[in-house]
Amino acid sequence: MNELPNCPKCGSTYTYQDGELYICPECSHEWSAQAAAAEEPVETGLVVKDANGNLLQDGDAVTVIKDLKVKGSSAVVKVGTKVRNIRLVEGDHNIDCRIDGIGDMKLKSEFVRKA
Ligand SMILES: [Zn+2]
Repeated sequence: MNELPNCPKCGSTYTYQDGELYICPECSHEWSAQAAAAEEPVETGLVVKDANGNLLQDGDAVTVIKDLKVKGSSAVVKVGTKVRNIRLVEGDHNIDCRIDGIGDMKLKSEFVRKA
């Protein structure tokens, strides 16, 4: 969560954070960090993006864009596999899901595309 928003007034990218405030050094505009956070579209607070940079949400369907080996088995999730009803989780593998014929597994969002 080191990404600070650009200044809403002048668009400066040099925003810094001071407690609950974001401050723009260029035009001295100050605004609430909490208000900015409340505008995030993802209710869980998790920001998970697919390979194209689209935001993913709980319940979305995605398509796997790369053959993925399933840990601890010889199974492979083939490219083009559709995965329904994903659940976003924290961590390196940030998508929790169930895949037909394989079962519960975790995916990296960088290897899927929103269906
Ligand atoms: Zn500014």
